[in-house]
Amino acid sequence: MKVDISALIIGSKSAIDVEYQTNYNLTDEIDVSSAKIICKGKIFSKNDAIFVDVAYTADMEALCSRCLEPITSVFENRSLDMICDKQANAQEDMQYLLEGKTFLLSEYVIQDLIINNDYQMLCSEDCLGLCSECGLNLNNEKCTCDSISVDPRLSALKDFFADKGGVENGSTKEKNVKS
Ligand SMILES: [Zn+2]
Ligand SMILES: [Zn+2]
Repeated sequence: MKVDISALIIGSKSAIDVEYQTNYNLTDEIDVSSAKIICKGKIFSKNDAIFVDVAYTADMEALCSRCLEPITSVFENRSLDMICDKQANAQEDMQYLLEGKTFLLSEYVIQDLIINNDYQMLCSEDCLGLCSECGLNLNNEKCTCDSISVDPRLSALKDFFADKGGVENGSTKEKNVKS
């Protein structure tokens, strides 16, 4: 959605209500296949500057980052930013202002979503992921591969036990040397 903010810059208006709904395809941007975005808010002038204040909901379809099964996830956020001053000098990091009068609202919102939604998308916190050897989805069935596929969060524990084993072997050796 593009919003003409020239009325705010001239001063003939103090606020413009904005509302839109759209579907995005985000494959290249993040691990999200698509997102349906509902956005509502306003663009207003205050203290010789123009601001955007919007709340949005993103209904996303993605792939679980461990097992690659399709999942849905909802992300909500509210974003408030200064767009430009009254002379239409865009704020340094604001790349969404065209010719000092058209604000690219939907681009602004999608960027906000990408910046704030960089966590891993998981079908479940307990997702077992895929076997690193045969690629089987370990949530559905067990495979017969030798390699034990370990949840990344538990790998520290696996290392801990491996270390323990090492220590025990060491102490046994010590005893052998002494006897
Ligand atoms: Zn999963
Ligand atoms: Zn396997």
